[in-house]
Amino acid sequence: MINPQTIISMHYDQVQIESVRPMSSSNQIVFFDTTLRDGEQSPGCTMHHEEKLRMAHQLADLGVDVIEAGFAIASQGDSDSIRTIAREVRNARIASLARCKREDIEAAARSIEPAAKSRIHTFLASSDLHLQAKLKITRAEAIDQAAESVRLACTFTDDVEFSAEDATRTDPDFLVKIVTVAVQAGATTINIPDTVGYTTPEEYAATFRMLLDKVPGAENVIFSTHCHDDLGMAVANTIAGIQAGARQVECTITGIGERAGNAALEEIAAALMVRRDKLPYTNNIKMEKLYPTSKILAEFISFGCSPNKAIVGANAFAHESGIHQHGVMANPLTYEIMTPESVGVPTNNMVLGKHSGRRMLEQRLAELGHPLTRSQLDEVYHRFTELADRKKSIYDQDLLGLLQPDKATAIAH
Ligand code: MN
Repeated sequence: MINPQTIISMHYDQVQIESVRPMSSSNQIVFFDTTLRDGEQSPGCTMHHEEKLRMAHQLADLGVDVIEAGFAIASQGDSDSIRTIAREVRNARIASLARCKREDIEAAARSIEPAAKSRIHTFLASSDLHLQAKLKITRAEAIDQAAESVRLACTFTDDVEFSAEDATRTDPDFLVKIVTVAVQAGATTINIPDTVGYTTPEEYAATFRMLLDKVPGAENVIFSTHCHDDLGMAVANTIAGIQAGARQVECTITGIGERAGNAALEEIAAALMVRRDKLPYTNNIKMEKLYPTSKILAEFISFGCSPNKAIVGANAFAHESGIHQHGVMANPLTYEIMTPESVGVPTNNMVLGKHSGRRMLEQRLAELGHPLTRSQLDEVYHRFTELADRKKSIYDQDLLGLLQPDKATAIAH
């Protein structure tokens, strides 16, 4: 039998690396995770301070480059969480969101002050619809606010991101204008959000190409995608953005976020891994941590992802029909385009029950993202045997329930 990995590498060896735009001299994709901001502000996804800190550590371990930790002006709680994350999570850049207002930017600056690497992310709507109906300001006023805010943010950190909210419904000439002003004012990342999930892959790509072409100094900044899934195209649009020159992707774990959610981090990362032949880009995501990260998030929010969720759903690697089972037994590549192990999905089918030992329990919890110390294991094993006496089959959710909430936070960090 041919080793599946051999076939994959043979395939990759034939890859032709496409030439990329001058601005994109680097093929490195920056992963900007907004699970703790766009994700957290959606229904059922509120997280406590300790949960946010635990999640931030996990995101940094996953290899996320920038963690948007919250919206400092929104509440004292948000601001405190960002500050704690900025102080304790040292191996990722910590971003704080701010409207284009002095008090927002100052609050954001205070919240990220302890960070090893910080970013202020300031945003202003650019579509006429938002300017007129929501902000009640003219285009000229918007230009002034954007420039002033980016300049102010630059006095606090050398890493400033500007987002033109509702960019995909903005008049293209005005989008060029406001982005140009933000770049001149010192923004180092320019985000082009598809705030309402309205764009299509081709249109979104054309928007990036236009900006790279028309904005003076575009080659010195990183362009960023931020896609919502209202039409189910968030990940497709994100990939189209990358192909057109964007080098940062904003996304969330399992795609949580406003309304239908954001582009799912694990789906973007898996697409870049599986289709390296068409998408010759590099990134820092540690693929085997995708599944444990999704499990930890599911513990903190009030719902788990659907079983058919790509990459991390319960059925993502399950095969029920006889034809598929036969194929997968002969060679997994017949029906699997990646191995479950490659994204951290546990493949051992050993059933945990009253006869299982503590070694097995330890291993399964580690696979679920909870490495335990010896004394923690003793304690959890004790609770496990009590549960196993009462319950025939023990599922992953039962195991996670055995960890006390405070323990889930403290473990591993
Ligand atoms: Mn959003």
